[in-house]
Amino acid sequence: MRHEAHSARDTTAWYNINADLPEPMAPVLHPATKQAITPDDLAPIFPRAVIEQEMSAEREIEIPEPVRQVYRQWRPSPLFRARRLERALDTPARIYYKYEGVSPAGSHKPNTAIPQAYYNQQEGVKRITTETGAGQWGSSLALAGSFFGLEIQVFMVRVSFDGKPYRRAYMEAFGARCIASPSDTTESGRAILAEHPDSSGSLGIAISEAVELAAQRDDTKYALGSVLNHVLLHQTVTGLECIRQMQMAEDYPDLVIGCTGGGSNFAGLAFPFLYEKLRDGLGTKFIAVEPSACPTLTKGAFAYDFGDTAHLTPLVKMYSLGSGFVPPGFHAGGLRYHGMAPQISHLTKLGLIAPRSYNQLECFDAGIRFAKAEGILPAPEANHAVRAAIHEAERCRENGESKAILFNLCGHGHFDMQAYIDYQAGKLQDLVYADSDIAMALAGLPSGC
Ligand SMILES: *Cc1c(COP(=O)(O)O)cnc(C)c1O
Repeated sequence: MRHEAHSARDTTAWYNINADLPEPMAPVLHPATKQAITPDDLAPIFPRAVIEQEMSAEREIEIPEPVRQVYRQWRPSPLFRARRLERALDTPARIYYKYEGVSPAGSHKPNTAIPQAYYNQQEGVKRITTETGAGQWGSSLALAGSFFGLEIQVFMVRVSFDGKPYRRAYMEAFGARCIASPSDTTESGRAILAEHPDSSGSLGIAISEAVELAAQRDDTKYALGSVLNHVLLHQTVTGLECIRQMQMAEDYPDLVIGCTGGGSNFAGLAFPFLYEKLRDGLGTKFIAVEPSACPTLTKGAFAYDFGDTAHLTPLVKMYSLGSGFVPPGFHAGGLRYHGMAPQISHLTKLGLIAPRSYNQLECFDAGIRFAKAEGILPAPEANHAVRAAIHEAERCRENGESKAILFNLCGHGHFDMQAYIDYQAGKLQDLVYADSDIAMALAGLPSGC
């Protein structure tokens, strides 16, 4: 079903799950002192409003009117019932997807890029540095920067910089500056290049470069497109809309599914439903889907770790493969991060989120089956959610169960056609990590905290 823009009221506040955690999260630690960080510690890299949100325990946080105005360009995003897919699978399950590909950048990322740019502009910031993996975050921040008159400098993971020239062109069209990471423009980048001149880069390295630059200049801040509490908060606009849309459909999900790179699109859809589960004692299940080649939640350790490779960021307790982990260059670039959002990690540890992983080939296969039925070609990242939804729908067919399955179709794949070309040509492989490789990466986790 299509939820028409004119028939919906605006979502006026984001939902903050910090208000409802069954147990408190472990504190964020200063990288040098290993003491709990204070707002002042974060002030060199984030605007004050963002730091407040990062630490807030208020259940509802108002969405500023200028942000709502931009959101109205594509929000509420549509919720669809995948009836043709249901028929193709011959399943009694009811499959729904919330489609975030209708944003101008083609993914859920503008949901947080817009407010982050807005808060920076309000506090007189002139320039924002950031990293991007597949390019969706850089694209989203580039367009947000042009709306709010900010200069955007993007460190793009080398493997994507070379493989996704259209993403780079897109960012540059909006006036952003795009630099391949590791680069020789920062100390963190130069240190990596000295050791690995052919480094394909990683999000962890690109974050180090972006944070280093932001910390050096008063008029420059840094923005992150996933992982942190305030990012997950901004994404909840998706789930809040979806609760009303499911009411219009007179249904309620038994399963809520999303792919997880840093955890933000999954959290955005899941947290408002998780709130209702905790509040009303519902049986809703939440499934976080990651690639087998970067198995953070399914094979990582729940431990304090750095968010970046050069260890400039605070220490957060999360599922991690170790900040030195450089995943192979598989095609779901947005899912190649070594860590996971602390909130997602915490809820997974508490048993409220069930993680699982799939291989790349079965995800592309699922994405193409979905496209043939529904007419939308998903981003390679989103294919992981599609894979899980199809898996669950097939299980319903085998067991004769009629469940309502909801997933986040967090972006379209129109910028990722090279991945589909490679898949159709039989050039992609499943990349499986030996447990010994993972053990080695985990051995690099910081000790003494
Ligand atoms: C960035 C991105 C992801 C991964 O990030 P999350 O924070 O886990 O959502 C997944 N899908 C798409 C389309 C993305 O752009």
